Amino acid sequence: MEKQKPITVSARLIAKKSLTPDVVEFTFRSEPSFSFQPGQFISIVIPGAGPGGRDLRRAYSIASSPELALDGQPAFELCVKLVEGGPGTTYLNSLKPGEAMTGMTPFGDFVYKPKAGRHAIFISTGTGLAPFRSMVLSRIYAEHPPASTRILFGARAESDLLYTTEIVKALGTGNLVQALSRAQADWCGFKGRVTDWLRENEGQIDWANTEFYLCGNGAMIDEAKQILAGKGVEKTSIHQEVYYKPKPGETHAN
Ligand SMILES: Cc1cc2nc3c(=O)[nH]c(=O)nc-3n(C[C@H](O)[C@H](O)[C@H](O)COP(=O)(O)OP(=O)(O)OC[C@H]3O[C@@H](n4cnc5c(N)ncnc54)[C@H](O)[C@@H]3O)c2cc1C
Repeated sequence: MEKQKPITVSARLIAKKSLTPDVVEFTFRSEPSFSFQPGQFISIVIPGAGPGGRDLRRAYSIASSPELALDGQPAFELCVKLVEGGPGTTYLNSLKPGEAMTGMTPFGDFVYKPKAGRHAIFISTGTGLAPFRSMVLSRIYAEHPPASTRILFGARAESDLLYTTEIVKALGTGNLVQALSRAQADWCGFKGRVTDWLRENEGQIDWANTEFYLCGNGAMIDEAKQILAGKGVEKTSIHQEVYYKPKPGETHAN
């Protein structure tokens, strides 16, 4: 698929919805509209929030499929974890419906790459699920699906789960693994981290014939890559998008 050159857009907020206590979904309509590949991101301008009053930029994966339209007009969604005191998320969360922000898009090579006959495992923590939602809801995925798909989603508690119904609908039951590191006793899904699931279920994975997509916390990505290397997975079968590096001593179970 041909890569689009990034353009500057004015994105007007259409709707804002809380998905969990600290994750918000934003729906925008952009002028001009733009094409992107599922998995790509927008770089938004945070006016005056940098040193000396300069603008800052923050990257956000587009969480909706490239085909999303509202009332016949193209639209796009972002799925954002609110970070206390963070300039990017504070700015986004301050936007009111009708207000516009400036962004440049599309950016990124972390895109769905159809490979006939190969399986796909998408591994995410938190809002790292956003690009995978875009991928599995996209036309290119529907037209060129992997031999099988599994999404591993890691979070702390049940209240942090994102897009469960939608993803189960897209993938069929049994293909979404929700791993909770601080699950309540009555949680029926997997208890632990996504990397624990990989280790404990190694017999379920066709390591040599799977494309692995990793997104979210850098600590999870590093640990998952170590597991994949131990299983002899080729580097060319591993695709990653690191959202942030963990603070010293922090793991992806914190
Ligand atoms: C390519 C790319 C795509 C991204 N897409 C998304 C996205 O779709 N949704 C999203 O929520 N974030 C995404 N991020 C992270 C985003 O760019 C910002 O870093 C984040 O929103 C924090 O910005 P801030 O200015 O509010 O806080 P900052 O002051 O810049 O960040 C403070 C700290 O918050 C923590 N942090 C940053 N991002 C996250 C996160 N997602 N979850 C938990 N803790 C975090 C880190 O420890 C970071 O050091 C993406 C990052 C990259 C590089």
